[in-house]
Amino acid sequence: MSSSPLLAPEEEVLSTLRADGHRNWLHPKVAVGAWFQKRRVVGWFLIALFNALPWLRMNGKPMVLLDWIGRKFHLFGITFEISDAFLLALLGLIWMLGIFAVTALLGRVWCGWMCPQTIYLEFVYRPLERLCFGRVGVGGKPAHVAACRRLLLWALYAIVSLWLAHVFLAYFVGVDRLLGLRGHEGWVRRSPLDHPGGFFLIGFVTVAMVFDFAFWREQLCTLACPYGRFQSVLLDRFSPVVAYDALRGEPRGKPRKEKKVALPLLAATAPSGGDCVDCGMCLAVCPTGIDIRKGLQMECLHCTQCVDACDKTMDHFGRPRGLIRYATGATLAGEKKRWLRPRVVLYPMAIALFSALFLHNLANKTGVGMYARRAAGTSYRMLADGRVENSFEVEVVNRTEERRVCAVRFDGLAGALWQADGLGEKEPPVVLAPEETRKFYIRVQVPPTVFGHVLPVMDLTLDDGQGRPQSEKMRLLGPSSVAPAVYSVPIPSPPAP
Ligand code: SF4
Ligand code: SF4
Repeated sequence: MSSSPLLAPEEEVLSTLRADGHRNWLHPKVAVGAWFQKRRVVGWFLIALFNALPWLRMNGKPMVLLDWIGRKFHLFGITFEISDAFLLALLGLIWMLGIFAVTALLGRVWCGWMCPQTIYLEFVYRPLERLCFGRVGVGGKPAHVAACRRLLLWALYAIVSLWLAHVFLAYFVGVDRLLGLRGHEGWVRRSPLDHPGGFFLIGFVTVAMVFDFAFWREQLCTLACPYGRFQSVLLDRFSPVVAYDALRGEPRGKPRKEKKVALPLLAATAPSGGDCVDCGMCLAVCPTGIDIRKGLQMECLHCTQCVDACDKTMDHFGRPRGLIRYATGATLAGEKKRWLRPRVVLYPMAIALFSALFLHNLANKTGVGMYARRAAGTSYRMLADGRVENSFEVEVVNRTEERRVCAVRFDGLAGALWQADGLGEKEPPVVLAPEETRKFYIRVQVPPTVFGHVLPVMDLTLDDGQGRPQSEKMRLLGPSSVAPAVYSVPIPSPPAP
């Protein structure tokens, strides 16, 4: 019986959890091989892209700006309003299906090659750590690190995180507002009290980044990220994964040295066993601390570090590379590759379908949009002359870069009078500056005789001056024998213009 008061689990639950419940801190070495070089190129390209995108413009607008202050999203020259939620939802769906399709075709490439968590950790924060702490072997953490080196590392972490937090914020407020370009005052030049929300966000993101990249690290991937959890349903046995060739590698064992050797390097290994020499390098370089030789695991990010490490070992012992490699479950079992299968057909078909729907809706998106609803908190009110008044709130949005002159009218019911508060005359022109949103109220008065068994409906029409009128049906409330309970609510005063 164990002398430990703790009950150890029968099998390993988590590679970073020790039996006593403490965290097993990982200090993976670096295997600089062919795959690492490729990932580094891709990683630095994506880092450059992330930092450059807020500065780039298209059609006179920011290329990517999720403007939560102005409630607009600028994506590659197209502006989406909050009211374009359907289009935005379609975009989100297409993006998600794209990841599903790529995963089915190429395996978990997102995690190992594109995810910001992996890229910034492996190519920015860990290199900084190695720079300040030095290396043991190729990247392991030394036993003792001087305090001044620790201080330097924390300072570098803080500077990099602060910069990244500003870039992150630029995606939501824009570089112009952040730095004071194109007539803006510039948040970074003013007191934090002038923009406490942005200041808080930068502080929060900076602290969150330092916490994540200094402490949390692989825990985010293995404990928090949902993608790792459902990858098993996105992959099938024909999807490429980073895998250990057990048929070739087992039985593993330390290489036996031969006494008489003609070619020292080649003959120094035991040809009788499997190719795995049990050097442990695949484990030493793994950023999530797993042993790939146990098979495909949820924690595997497909970072290919174990591939590079094992290839180096194979080179050293003069054995063919690829004991750990990109392979599919089927090919490892001796079956043929199969590219064409239901999921790699269905995902692209779904993407094509939703893309067509997106483009159709985008093409029919008008330059000027109108959104009308009953004025908040109102039903109807009886006027002194017996007429019945309903109030509506109307929002007109100019999505173009040009000044637009539009007209609104309210018709469809004989004897109705209406007035737009804040716009003046009947059928007044609504003059909109580029990208302006104008909100106003319309009061409509009708004789009580129009309220019979059915509630009357009127047409609110916006003529955008480009021959594309838009109409909305507005139902009027009033005294009726049909649904008296509806009208028994107190009638508030109409809203101020
Ligand atoms: S098992 Fe290999 S590919 Fe998977 S995370 Fe570890 S080192 Fe990367
Ligand atoms: S690196 Fe390759 S040879 Fe070394 S233990 Fe891992 S699988 Fe075996």
